[in-house]
Amino acid sequence: MFECKDIAEEASNYLDGDLPLRKRIGLFLHLVICSCCRRYMQQIKQTISTVSTLRPREQHDTDTQALAEKLRTISKTDS
Ligand SMILES: [Zn+2]
Repeated sequence: MFECKDIAEEASNYLDGDLPLRKRIGLFLHLVICSCCRRYMQQIKQTISTVSTLRPREQHDTDTQALAEKLRTISKTDS
């Protein structure tokens, strides 16, 4: 069963669609029961879309991986 720390770990892969189906389902099920992680996921999505809206020219080069990494660090420091 996925825990909150796993969500932080896999969030970027999940959003990239870069996870095996079994993990995606586990993660999804955690999101269903955990409002904290739903909010966390929402924030990452929003940040990514904000960045690509603000800098459309660099969209092809947007490093979402590094961005998610940064957010992950922030959320770890918070808790
Ligand atoms: Zn959680």
